[in-house]
Amino acid sequence: MKISRRELLKITGFGIVALTALPRMAFAARNSVRGLRTGIQPGNKTRLVIETANRPSFNVSYPNNQLVITLTNTALNSNLSASLTSGALVRSVSQAQVGDSLQIIANLTQSISEIPKNQIMILEPNGDNDYRLVLDFVAGAAPATYTTNSATTTTAITAARKYVVVIDAGHGGKDPGCIGKGGTREKDIVLSVAKKLKTKLDANGFKTHLTRADDRYLKLAERASIAEKKKADLFISLHANANPSRKMKGFSIYTLSEKASDEEAKKLAEAENAADKIGVEGFTEFEENIRIALSSLQQHAVAEMSEEYATGCARAFKKSSIEQQPGPDVRHAPFAVLRSTVPGALLELGHLSNAAEEKLLKTSSHQDKLVAAIVKSVKNYNFEV
Ligand SMILES: [Zn+2]
Repeated sequence: MKISRRELLKITGFGIVALTALPRMAFAARNSVRGLRTGIQPGNKTRLVIETANRPSFNVSYPNNQLVITLTNTALNSNLSASLTSGALVRSVSQAQVGDSLQIIANLTQSISEIPKNQIMILEPNGDNDYRLVLDFVAGAAPATYTTNSATTTTAITAARKYVVVIDAGHGGKDPGCIGKGGTREKDIVLSVAKKLKTKLDANGFKTHLTRADDRYLKLAERASIAEKKKADLFISLHANANPSRKMKGFSIYTLSEKASDEEAKKLAEAENAADKIGVEGFTEFEENIRIALSSLQQHAVAEMSEEYATGCARAFKKSSIEQQPGPDVRHAPFAVLRSTVPGALLELGHLSNAAEEKLLKTSSHQDKLVAAIVKSVKNYNFEV
């Protein structure tokens, strides 16, 4: 199943058609439900997807721990089988014909709040799919009102959730990371920047967690699993670079891919991943679990979101006066620390192998500049879709 996030963005916002606002369409072909499935999205959202033959008209109600989607002018499909993901908020699904309408009744494991409009989308058909009505929701207090008409209700009044950012200072403890000629250790630089970044992001209304707040060793899988446990919306791993050429300098940004975008990216991922070899256990098992837990749709969604963040981050750095490493804005490599259900990127803040940049990276003013650019990138990132 292919849902591009761009496609989601394009369609968000005009998906809701009011039952009452539509004239009765006596001649319209009856709609039918062709598929139904649930999944889990980043941020522990449950996604319910209802695939229909025609563009659906619907409304949503929330009786007794249920989520009911009433599809107008739709016939019951007795062959419909639902594919339900364990761990999602939907325990079981049934359907009921009520006059011309079909009700899809999702029995929930926990109550949910009224789903905000921007979490309900209709996707246009594409290669493998029909129309899809997509609803994303999280566990929460039951809505005060029993039934909602999507046309007349304004977005649920709830306090805005703080977005969670996990900041990962690379290396630490017995693993110094790379070391500059002047003796500057990567683990110290990135910890200092991570702490500054946490302070600034907190001040900007984000909820942040550090994978490490002091000089300690953490396995790569542990870092990724902290992001999972904190239900992070974004994961930022901070590093500094070393290059065989002492002339090489500048900032660079990476997202996860199975294949490295170039030879240098490949070598870098090998070097960063080698941090784990200092500890005994590898991350293969964790990686396997994640792969199983994530559907290809989710993997795709996480990759898209990561790419979007990284592209925005590169833009923020371009606008600052921080030197960028020559080459593409965003590079790709199989970094173990980025293997999770949380979108994110790995930032190489500069080259400790370059004498001038080593000096620069140690200064508080340059670290502040780096932090300002990263804060900008987080503020500009679209957390909502
Ligand atoms: Zn590193």
